Amino acid sequence: MSQNYIEIQTVAKHYGKVKALNGATLAFEKGGQYALTGASGSGKSTLLYLIGGLDRADEGSVLVDGKNLNTFNDEELAKYRGNEVGFVFQFHFLLNSLNCIDNILLPSKISAQNSKEVEKRVADLANQLGVSNLLEKYPYQLSGGEQQRINIIRALSLKPKLLLCDEPTGNLDSNNTEIVVNLLMKLASENGTTLIVVTHDRSVASRFSHQVEMKDGQIVH
Ligand code: ADP
Ligand code: MG
Repeated sequence: MSQNYIEIQTVAKHYGKVKALNGATLAFEKGGQYALTGASGSGKSTLLYLIGGLDRADEGSVLVDGKNLNTFNDEELAKYRGNEVGFVFQFHFLLNSLNCIDNILLPSKISAQNSKEVEKRVADLANQLGVSNLLEKYPYQLSGGEQQRINIIRALSLKPKLLLCDEPTGNLDSNNTEIVVNLLMKLASENGTTLIVVTHDRSVASRFSHQVEMKDGQIVH
């Protein structure tokens, strides 16, 4: 039995001739907080997509809680994403046709979780993140930092075991970067969520107890 939550074993992922991942091997502990760094094109986003079940490895295995994601069919992968994973990306995936609260509650509408509990949790998160007064507004009425906080609430609304963030502060100023990173770390520790944050920002990476660097589709250390 392994105590690692996620095990990436000699994983390869090719896009045509490009080897986005080329034998990456790495383990993540349950509840650990990880910064994933490396030059542009080193395979960080690809690794995140495979861990999050948004795509499949060509070779090797991605084990989560001992289950090999490669063996999941599309339905099982969708269920895994919905039940276990929260995503926060640099570019917001908020729908401008819905107000913020409807954007936040979208995933819970598709899941079987108790809606009253989710709404309570969302209200509490909005309060902690200082955006309670923005929930009825539309995404285009918010600043980048505010939109990112709405994204974080949506990602955490279903209590994911795993929170995957791809350059979550990539388009934020240093003040909002600080706020967002603090919140991600605090909320993840409070919930025992495993947190993986891809970042270019050295000062963001240095905050994490685990720092993983990628190069040419492999883990450097
Ligand atoms: P990073 O996030 O570290 O910048 P990526 O994982 O996005 O790196 O990309 C790794 C390599 O794979 C890059 O060379 C990139 O151009 C290529 N790549 C990523 N996604 C695709 C795709 N959907 N189609 C073709 N090439 C891709
Ligand atoms: Mg990337």
